[in-house]
Amino acid sequence: MTAGEQFTFKAEIQQLLNILVHSLYTDRDIFLRELISNASDALNRVKFEQLTNTNVADPDIDLYIEIETDADAGTLTISDTGIGMTRDDLINNLGVIAQSGAKAFVEALKARQEANSATTDVIGQFGVGFYSVFMVADKVRVISRSYHPEATAFAWESDGSDTFTIEAAERDTRGTTVVITLKEDAKEYLEAFKLKQIIHHHSDYITFPIYVGEEEEPTNKQTAIWRSDPKSVSDDDYADFYKSLTYDFENPLHRIHMRADTPLQFYALLYIPSRSSREMLIAREPGLQLYARKVLIQERTTDLLPDYLQFVTGVVDSEDLPLSVSRESVQATRVMAALKKTLTTKVLTELKRMMKNKPDEYHAVFERFGRFIKQGVVVNPADTPEIEPLLLFPSTKSESPDQWVSFADYLDRAAENQQDIYYVVGDDFTSVARSPHLDAFHKRGIEVLYFIDPADAVMLMGLREVNGHALRNVDEADIDLSSVGTPQEDQAEEAEPLQADTFTTLRDRFAEVLGERVKGVREGKNLVDSPARLVSEDANPGRNMFRINRLLDREYELPIKTLEINPRHPLMHNLSAKLAAAPDDPLVTAVIEQVFETALLQDGIHPDPASMAERLVMLMQAATK
Ligand code: ADP
Repeated sequence: MTAGEQFTFKAEIQQLLNILVHSLYTDRDIFLRELISNASDALNRVKFEQLTNTNVADPDIDLYIEIETDADAGTLTISDTGIGMTRDDLINNLGVIAQSGAKAFVEALKARQEANSATTDVIGQFGVGFYSVFMVADKVRVISRSYHPEATAFAWESDGSDTFTIEAAERDTRGTTVVITLKEDAKEYLEAFKLKQIIHHHSDYITFPIYVGEEEEPTNKQTAIWRSDPKSVSDDDYADFYKSLTYDFENPLHRIHMRADTPLQFYALLYIPSRSSREMLIAREPGLQLYARKVLIQERTTDLLPDYLQFVTGVVDSEDLPLSVSRESVQATRVMAALKKTLTTKVLTELKRMMKNKPDEYHAVFERFGRFIKQGVVVNPADTPEIEPLLLFPSTKSESPDQWVSFADYLDRAAENQQDIYYVVGDDFTSVARSPHLDAFHKRGIEVLYFIDPADAVMLMGLREVNGHALRNVDEADIDLSSVGTPQEDQAEEAEPLQADTFTTLRDRFAEVLGERVKGVREGKNLVDSPARLVSEDANPGRNMFRINRLLDREYELPIKTLEINPRHPLMHNLSAKLAAAPDDPLVTAVIEQVFETALLQDGIHPDPASMAERLVMLMQAATK
């Protein structure tokens, strides 16, 4: 029993501890990775303090991590000469302030348990950090002394139940010592061999020496992998480092390892993750690790890449950043702006090269991150010339939603006399493929791109043309295809159109029934197999913003469009005949309503499709009479 003052863990931490103490995990080894990683962070932080602040205790001691075991006492001890913790730090960092990871972990674990699926693989994916020690510990005592020159040492102790204690302690120099009394079934961690194996596997790249037992030589290689010659780094090393950075357990899709000498000197090791952070159990915060001459300046630096490339993760280490720079002022320096420019160009060039040389790999990247890349044309218009060639879309020539075409390939195979790039906006591949707007394009063999990703509507706000070719929505009212493409030969004979005055009567009735819901009703010259469609007089790409608002559950208003009806379509012939024979037949109104709502449905903008059910029943009844 310690006589220290007692504190209660925050509720989330209690839950987490309860799970860690009482469950069996196959991958318990990671507790050591977590403690070493904390020690390395603490060393990085004190190194940084020493560069910027003269008031650091024990300025001359080496920076290292030491791991010792005591078989008789059954303890494992991990010490560092890092930044240390004050009494308040111990209370807050190890008991009161739950990291976001703790809560997310508990939730994910519960979900797994409820679904009766494996829980053992969950833990490695979370930064449960320090608390993972309770997978192997009966009791943990943390003795720490802060780097503040006048600080004294304190000890934190807990057995993983709901409370911990704090008391004054002894420690000669600044730093932290974690003493773990191992559980009966965790005695394997007393073996130096076992410890070294874990260090090689998980912590080799830690830049501070890790000494195990009495050994003179550090166990870890200590190579900053991003500073190594790429030829000397194996795929496995690269992948392990990626995993340690991200908590992802799958290999990254791609890596970029670069070194530059002029005008800036820096090293960068960037990764394109295999999954977007939404697909991960816990959202990864964006940003690159920023080192200045091997000193970690900032863990998550978002100023090194534009927003649309924040899915890229990794490390940047620059020789040119002034070490005296404070964390807050990092983003303001000219060097940062120059680094950002170089890295952005590098990533975009690399993506372009991938698209050309390894299209399958690029497809995988675009599938996951394409929607971010697309937003670049709006948020960083200056990058549009570099982004535009990276964009891919399905089209009328695709057999499935993942058969894509770039703007360049689209233009290469454009139809005769075709100047513009045509696209159709919709919600998904199958519905857009049946769009009535495509009638005329099919008929003349003109390819149309499918903009079915909500991000496409955003992209359109910034992309009006590609290399001088205007982007045109197929629902624009004034598209004239008469000289574009070649009429396809195997088309069935075109039916006779309604006579002019008959058509006018029909059109007027449509206009009367639909009232303000349409801008007007007119003959559709581009319609072939479809009876009607809704066209837009407004070519402003902003008119598709309502799709985004709808997706985000924001208020939106449906655009009011012009209804085009097809005077050749048998439905219009029948309706016209009905109108002549029985002008007041409620069936006429019902059919007109249904034609209009079907057009809404085909554009993916019907606000409430189920509301058509009643009318459809009535129409079916009439049809079967
Ligand atoms: P994380 O490292 O993800 O922040 P942890 O639970 O591992 O979460 O640690 C919580 C906090 O405790 C750390 O952020 C750090 O402030 C402090 N801490 C942990 N270990 C050490 C250490 N060896 N030296 C100094 N501070 C530490």
